[in-house]
Amino acid sequence: MVLISVQTKGHYDFIDITKKVEKIVIDSKIKEGIALVFVKGSTAAMTTMEYESGLIGDLKNVFEKLAPEKADYQHHLRWGDHNGAAHIKSAIIGTDLAIPIENGKLILGQWQQIVLIDFDERPRQREIIVKVIKS
Ligand code: ZN
Repeated sequence: MVLISVQTKGHYDFIDITKKVEKIVIDSKIKEGIALVFVKGSTAAMTTMEYESGLIGDLKNVFEKLAPEKADYQHHLRWGDHNGAAHIKSAIIGTDLAIPIENGKLILGQWQQIVLIDFDERPRQREIIVKVIKS
């Protein structure tokens, strides 16, 4: 298990971690298998996408329509916090990816990056766990 530590700003912070995961796969010397990528926490998400500013803006708009940050959520009454929208997006998108490895390299599309999205209402220090599993 290898940890990637990332400082985020919250509020829809998109961070491309592809190079970091690629380096972990190379260092593992595993030629065939799976890279499991998991972000610890319930207000962030892991996904793949084309990492460019237009699509980041489009996704922010869609996510904001889905669960607006300023809306009321039952979760806020439970704990007195205000990140209900972030929990919803994290639960829907998910917090993990399983990426195949062939010939010592991740199999990704040309325009497909591995991206952490932090939806929380404040900056966070995020831990992403990467497990390279031989098959
Ligand atoms: Zn919460």
